[in-house]
Amino acid sequence: MQVKAAVARANCPEFSVENLSLDSPRSDEILIRVSGVGICHTDIVMKGGVTPETPAVFGHEGAGIVEKIGDAVTKVKPSDRVAISFRSCGTCAQCRAGHPAYCSTMASLNFSGARPDGSTTLRTDEHRVASNFFGQSSFANYCLAYERNVVKISDEVPLEIAGPLGCGVQTGAGAVMRVLSCDPGSSILVLGGGTVGLSAVLGARVQGCSTIIVVEPHAARRTLASELGATHVIDPAVAIDLSAAVRAIAPEGVNFAVDTSGVPKVQSAAMACLAHRGVLGLVAISPPGTPVPGDLMSLTISGQSVKGIIEGDSDPDVFIPELISLYLEGRFPFDRLLKTYPLREINQAIADQHSGACIKAVLLPWD
Ligand SMILES: [Zn+2]
Ligand SMILES: [Zn+2]
Repeated sequence: MQVKAAVARANCPEFSVENLSLDSPRSDEILIRVSGVGICHTDIVMKGGVTPETPAVFGHEGAGIVEKIGDAVTKVKPSDRVAISFRSCGTCAQCRAGHPAYCSTMASLNFSGARPDGSTTLRTDEHRVASNFFGQSSFANYCLAYERNVVKISDEVPLEIAGPLGCGVQTGAGAVMRVLSCDPGSSILVLGGGTVGLSAVLGARVQGCSTIIVVEPHAARRTLASELGATHVIDPAVAIDLSAAVRAIAPEGVNFAVDTSGVPKVQSAAMACLAHRGVLGLVAISPPGTPVPGDLMSLTISGQSVKGIIEGDSDPDVFIPELISLYLEGRFPFDRLLKTYPLREINQAIADQHSGACIKAVLLPWD
């Protein structure tokens, strides 16, 4: 079928919205009419040269309505409303233990730009188009997904906002709620007030953290962080000595910290803010060879730890419904992070996300 998609091409700084052909669903595939798709930092990084081939279609925070299913699909049926997350195998030891973000086939199922047999789901008249990213490539009005990465969504949730739950939102919230599992009354430092950082703030509220400190250079994001539940905000341009600024609030240091920046200097500064037995969670992907922050001597003496976390260690089938219940109860207002744009304005949306004019852009392919 003919679809409309935002295409990344080599040596072209912008995405171009083009008509492509999309395969019919194979027996294990699900055709989804995309209602909305969030833009995640990983999409931008892959466009910047990490992608295995071009042209390519990214997009991995999609949500929409099931249009058609392959013979072997039983989890969903046409007209079901779904959020789409990362793809996992469902059979390896980590998947079986409820940790699909650490699936042994994560790389090939999510980043290879093709199905496991090497075929792409999208093509132009002449060429294959790298696709199937995160088992979706949903910067398009239709995409193909799989049972393992679709989660049914109740009717009360607007579909166009559900996609970001599948990556950016679960990354921040899952770090705090599933991995750090912050205790009620504990203190937490969040470095960065983008989607992941602010989702960590929302998660910290749910956990009952009593001190929630956000470090963020953009004033508007600091204001939003306060509205969403941060008890203190710090402008890093003013607080040159982060540890002193944090210890003025929490004299013994914080019990938890979440770094969303991926910047080694920021991570080291965060280590200096931890209380004894404090834990620093790292959720951003760093380039290969980046050293672990901190110092083994003080780590040992203080009983501190550094924890790497991918996708909030989310099991989407469990965690996305949990976040939606909290949203419907008014306890997880993640919709406040989102701003919608028509798909054709993808380049403007990326520029706004970059400048801080919006936090999470969600593209609407049918506008
Ligand atoms: Zn992402
Ligand atoms: Zn697996």
